[in-house]
Amino acid sequence: MTEEFIPAYMGISTFMHAKHTRDLTDVDMAVVGIPFDSGAVSWRSGTRHGPGSIRENSKQLWGYNRHVGIWPTKDVNFIDYGDIECDPTNIDRSADAITAGVLELLKQDVRVMSLGGDHSITYPLLRAHAEKFGPVALVHFDSHTDCYQVIPQLEHGTPFHLAIRDGFVDTSAYVQVGIRGPQSNEGELKEAEDLGADVLTIEKCFEMGTSAIVDHIRQKVGDRPVYVTLDIDSIDPAYAPGTGTPEVGGFTSFQMLHMVRGLAGLNVIGADLVEVNPHYDHGAITAILGANLAFELMSVMGKNLM
Ligand code: MN
Ligand code: MN
Repeated sequence: MTEEFIPAYMGISTFMHAKHTRDLTDVDMAVVGIPFDSGAVSWRSGTRHGPGSIRENSKQLWGYNRHVGIWPTKDVNFIDYGDIECDPTNIDRSADAITAGVLELLKQDVRVMSLGGDHSITYPLLRAHAEKFGPVALVHFDSHTDCYQVIPQLEHGTPFHLAIRDGFVDTSAYVQVGIRGPQSNEGELKEAEDLGADVLTIEKCFEMGTSAIVDHIRQKVGDRPVYVTLDIDSIDPAYAPGTGTPEVGGFTSFQMLHMVRGLAGLNVIGADLVEVNPHYDHGAITAILGANLAFELMSVMGKNLM
């Protein structure tokens, strides 16, 4: 049987039925699971089960992505690398394992699509990508700025202020999209802006519309190497209830799909999808959306490798 005729429910749950291997010979792109949620200290834990849930629900996905113009499982050589082994009792050791593990792939010119895990994993992921590419432009979909400077250590509310402090981000091209919800203090958005973030609050996003947001991002990023980080809580909990810190009043599924597809043609050198928490999911709607968004991110990243 050829790939297209294998019933979707069959086989073990790798991402989109991709081959699971650690042999990187001729590999263009890899899915990497990062089942770590010890950075989710603010509210509900459980995103350590995100990669498994996304993989399980990605098995239905296949075929040609007409929005981006790629058949990601055919037009590039992509694998499921498996998971990075993290230590739930030690965030620094886990961050080191993530950076080292992903650098192995980047050094072999493999592009990486990481599945979280909570958002703390993006700090070590940016560290790995900055080592390979230099400071990267950053597109950050989230309802939270994750730049909280009152917290000095790494957890899921701080990865970006630490990544900026350590020089991993090109702050002339850092866009945050969808920010909303109660804030830690009245100056919270200004704190993120002072670090260099271009903060698009949700009200600004709805005023602009998704096409104008895409134009804004494209203009800002230009031809820089850009990393895309997508916190599933940027989407309204009506569409994505399975997450640790839901914030009402967010994007629809379609709006997020449209924005991610709109990144096609940018020099996307890495991406992650974080904060999918199957314990609070219903009918796997969040995991299905997460799998589809990962498919879109992989399409956008893979398009440059064809
Ligand atoms: Mn986040
Ligand atoms: Mn968030």
